[in-house]
Amino acid sequence: MNKSSSTFDVIIVGGGLAGLSSAIHLSNANLRVLVIEKNSYPKHKVCGEYISNEVLPYLKFLDIDVFSLGAKRINKFQLSTTQSKLISTTLPLGGFGISRFCLDHALANKAHEVGAEILQDSVEDIQFLNDEFSVNTKNTELFKAKIVIGAYGKRSNLDIKLNRQFIKRKSPYLAVKTHVAGIFPDDVVALHNFEGGYCGVSKVENDNINVCYITNVNRFKKYKNIDEFQQKVLCQNMFLRHIFNSTNPVFEEPLTISQISFDAKKPVENHILMCGDTAALIHPLCGNGMSIAIRSAQMASVLIINYFNSETSDRDALEKQYLREWNVAFKSRLKTGHMVANVFNQPKLSQVLMHGLKWFPAILPSIIKRTHGKIMTIE
Ligand SMILES: Cc1cc2nc3c(=O)[nH]c(=O)nc-3n(C[C@H](O)[C@H](O)[C@H](O)COP(=O)(O)OP(=O)(O)OC[C@H]3O[C@@H](n4cnc5c(N)ncnc54)[C@H](O)[C@@H]3O)c2cc1C
Repeated sequence: MNKSSSTFDVIIVGGGLAGLSSAIHLSNANLRVLVIEKNSYPKHKVCGEYISNEVLPYLKFLDIDVFSLGAKRINKFQLSTTQSKLISTTLPLGGFGISRFCLDHALANKAHEVGAEILQDSVEDIQFLNDEFSVNTKNTELFKAKIVIGAYGKRSNLDIKLNRQFIKRKSPYLAVKTHVAGIFPDDVVALHNFEGGYCGVSKVENDNINVCYITNVNRFKKYKNIDEFQQKVLCQNMFLRHIFNSTNPVFEEPLTISQISFDAKKPVENHILMCGDTAALIHPLCGNGMSIAIRSAQMASVLIINYFNSETSDRDALEKQYLREWNVAFKSRLKTGHMVANVFNQPKLSQVLMHGLKWFPAILPSIIKRTHGKIMTIE
């Protein structure tokens, strides 16, 4: 990339689901877009890989057909307690299973096809001065843009640079994800609880089974390694025992991440419009962080296009409108997600909940509905 090409309308920091969806949307509106992503594609990510159907119309609008990529249609939900008591229900909206390896790659290819530039580099600093952003990367020159979208995920070196509050507090959560080969229904997403955490299980496009769990680091540290933790803790739940003992690992080693924070963040910081996990992370047990990421990308993109078309009066109006829409769309979903996670964190309370659900199974879909959005509309 030479010097003359270093000024863009929009720079998107991070090329995950939020960043790439925005890149396609904005490039289709003829804006000059640069995505800066520190990793190459395709790449596996720690994620449960179950996505709510709410995003299907928008993915279609972006010209991404997940079913032609092999995504599995999922419409059943199973929930089990640490004592292996199982509740099954139909998902109100349903969803699909697709690996991040496949989906992020497809979005990156589409972004490139519609004219977005994608640079593999790590953003080290973002400065805002005289109504313009300067974006510094590790290996390349300085880039300039009128608008910057922060779509760099759950946590990054940039959060320290931006002096964001949540990064100052340590988080006890860590997550492990692997793919295994074996028998599991295509149309089910399961959430199996174990002492100190929960594990999602569902299939992805190539028939592999995604097994992804989240737990507390202090509990995890008592065991020699991941294998011992899984055998001694997760396998106390008979459904997880069956999965671990009847399947073969596909990955050489599971992927892990730590310091997963669910603390509140600001969706606009230093004039940067934050999208996806950079704006907030919903508890993974709700299974809709990805749809929130994609929906927030749509929201930001529509407003940014209005801004460049002079339909929005100025930057201040753009930021206020984004904040307003973001709060309306996500605040209550996040709150319900926190409440449900708190219940599952307390064994006695979660037993009471599960007992209640056994007697009144209709409550479960209504809890699910509260953490999920409605089918997205295209503007
Ligand atoms: C254990 C677990 C299980 C989950 N399961 C589900 C599930 O089943 N369903 C669901 O809907 N959601 C799930 N989620 C949530 C979901 O994974 C996230 O909400 C989603 O990935 C958010 O997408 P994003 O685009 O915001 O961020 P990401 O996909 O994380 O993308 C951010 C990108 O930014 C890049 N980046 C970071 N820093 C920089 C930098 N300085 N410079 C350049 N690039 C940078 C990263 O490399 C990354 O590619 C789960 C989350 C966890 C932790």
